[in-house]
Amino acid sequence: MPRPILATIHPGALRHNLARARRAARDARVWAVVKADAYGHGIERVFDALRGADGFALLDLAEAARLRALGWRGPILLLEGAFEPRDLELCSRLGLWHAVHCDAQIDMLAAHKTQAGHRVFLKMDSGMHRLGFAPHRMGAAWTRLNALPQVEEVSLMTHFANADVDADADDGAGARVGLDAQLECFARAVGDLPGERSLANSAALLRHGHRPEVRADWVRPGIALYGSAPDFPGHDAAHWDLRPAMTLSTRLIGVQEIGAGAAVGYGSTFVADRPMRIGTAACGYADGYPRHAGTGTPVMVDGRRTRLLGRVSMDMLALDLTGLPNAGVGSPVTLWGRDAASGAVLPIDRVAGAAGTVGYELMCAVAPRVPVAVDEDAGGADA
Ligand SMILES: *Cc1c(COP(=O)(O)O)cnc(C)c1O
Repeated sequence: MPRPILATIHPGALRHNLARARRAARDARVWAVVKADAYGHGIERVFDALRGADGFALLDLAEAARLRALGWRGPILLLEGAFEPRDLELCSRLGLWHAVHCDAQIDMLAAHKTQAGHRVFLKMDSGMHRLGFAPHRMGAAWTRLNALPQVEEVSLMTHFANADVDADADDGAGARVGLDAQLECFARAVGDLPGERSLANSAALLRHGHRPEVRADWVRPGIALYGSAPDFPGHDAAHWDLRPAMTLSTRLIGVQEIGAGAAVGYGSTFVADRPMRIGTAACGYADGYPRHAGTGTPVMVDGRRTRLLGRVSMDMLALDLTGLPNAGVGSPVTLWGRDAASGAVLPIDRVAGAAGTVGYELMCAVAPRVPVAVDEDAGGADA
């Protein structure tokens, strides 16, 4: 028997979440963000469920080629644009739209020989200070791009740094640039330049999508499509009516009866204060489970909530079986996602929160050694 760990992808949940994003987007078009191999889910596995989007956004040219190979003929947007001149040849050949965020990319385009007119998203830095032209340089960049014979259409984009929190959130992050400040900065800098606009990631779409200037012409949800709340712990996935697109599951491969005072795992960080039954599950950090998840991280065994004990090792982790007298070797364990036995959801965001990280990182980090199944009929399909 293979090692029992398994990641299961739920296309029904992806469809549901895309419909949810579309509702929030109203008349705006939707880029389904599928970078990082669809946030770890696998582009080929999510493609059919997400093909109702208006376009796909990602940043790896090889992934864009995989979408074309799947038969997608609609828009594909490269969120970081071209990295070197020959990338533009692939953009021409595959009909990729691409972000333009710096002068070097305009230089590349100006030197690029092509028959196909390129569609570009001119990117502005409105306060995140990651990628994009400074506000005072947008007008000149637009004029230069618009004059290039290689360019057919110039659209405008920016990205929010803090769409997941309230502007007045008092959590010690003093210099936080708020969504409204970024909106104003963008509106002022692009003024009445012609072209479609795109601003909103999942957090902006779900939290502020009722505002037309946030939805604009194109929205760019990523994490919401995969069923994780972009603003956890402020809100959870259930609040946003999002369903988990991935379940990570395994089984118990060992059970121990330990006495009071016995310690569990590397570093002996958990010490029993009474006699306990504990289980060992076949999942560790080499599978992508976060090593920084400590005692108390939620896990499901036999469809019931319990907790992790001690340190996660490379291939195994320990679970509290108190109150689970029927659990034994072979019992199903759900690490996140939808528990197959009970149908209950263990949100990936809770596990991430216990490990000091975000759902994004966990779903992207599921290791290549974990086999992946696609669950065609359960796991969140709409009735
Ligand atoms: C990743 C990304 C998104 C999607 O962000 P989510 O928080 O996953 O919705 C949108 N726009 C850009 C530019 C991105 O890099």
